[in-house]
Amino acid sequence: MSGKQPKTILTDQSASIVNAIVKVFPKTKHRLCHWHIYVNTAKNLSCVFHVPDQFAKDFGKCVYDYEEEEDWLLAWSGMLNKHKLTENKWLKSLFEVKEKWAMVYGRHTFTADMVWTQRSESMNRILKRYLKSSFDLLTFFKHYERVLDDRRYIELVADFGMMHTLSVLFASVEMLQHAEEVYTPEVFTLFQKENTVIGDYVAKKTSKSEMVYEYNVSFRGDAQEHLVKYDAANQTIQCSCMKFSFAGVLCRHALKVLNKKNVRIIPPTYNSESMEDIVIFVTFREIASVAAEHIKLTLCADEDAVELLKKLEEKKKELVRANKWMPHSSEDKLVEEDEDVQNVRGIKRKNPIERPKNQKDGPHSRFKGVLEKKKSWYIKIIK
Ligand SMILES: [Zn+2]
Repeated sequence: MSGKQPKTILTDQSASIVNAIVKVFPKTKHRLCHWHIYVNTAKNLSCVFHVPDQFAKDFGKCVYDYEEEEDWLLAWSGMLNKHKLTENKWLKSLFEVKEKWAMVYGRHTFTADMVWTQRSESMNRILKRYLKSSFDLLTFFKHYERVLDDRRYIELVADFGMMHTLSVLFASVEMLQHAEEVYTPEVFTLFQKENTVIGDYVAKKTSKSEMVYEYNVSFRGDAQEHLVKYDAANQTIQCSCMKFSFAGVLCRHALKVLNKKNVRIIPPTYNSESMEDIVIFVTFREIASVAAEHIKLTLCADEDAVELLKKLEEKKKELVRANKWMPHSSEDKLVEEDEDVQNVRGIKRKNPIERPKNQKDGPHSRFKGVLEKKKSWYIKIIK
């Protein structure tokens, strides 16, 4: 982790994990998995959960709905009264940790729109394929390194696939064309889904002060309204549903207002980072692609990449000296990591060009790529 703490962790309600997170990652937002909340509630309240008096529906609303805490508290207490559960111990214990599972408290926390621990559950299965309980500590870490390297390799392959995939636009409109340029196919699909339904939403202007416009946006015929504020001066937009904060994608309500204000491209605040990432990735992909065509080109790229790395390190030092940047102290330790670690990993590497296997060192041995020579750099780039 290089001393860094994750922004958000999703877990079940295991007390030992809760205690460990507080101790090890005090700055991390801890959210509880909705699937586990549902399963445990169904177990503890089986008398009301499966009968058709809508407890499950009311409970679901308390998990996912509401944008204001006051409304949520009213709904929770209404549900307890309606189903005669005001003294129920399980619901009392859930209420104590409501900030960790009710969406009304989690809208400001980025979770990439994940509310289940499905990623960690799937990672558990992957780990079991590599690790055995009989491993001693050293063997455990050797194999754990294999897991990480294989996951990173899969990520690189996915990135490469992404750069060669064209998204399907439902309509040839400017906003979607721009989104297709600046987002990954995955994010573009989510964005397009939100943008496609804005025709079914109604936006009523509620106020305007100088360059700030406020709208109430609702689904046609629906009483629930979402407050959207659009600041035309700095091109920022906020919606009370906070979808951009927890999912990283502009919501249909915000897109409805942008459409109403004739904004045809995604404001810079919501795409600049992706743009920079994509531009640098395209450049490196092109370099790798050309370098792989001939071994002399590979050597040339290798040498220039080492020079580039030196320049970046110099630039980094300059920024630190000018107090313009404070790198994480432990990050530098990666640069000094022993290259021998690579020998014990035993991971499969895909060679960039065709070359004989099992070749010994010598004039005809395969050339090590810069990524192999600078393992630490490799780790940083793909991290
Ligand atoms: Zn919204």
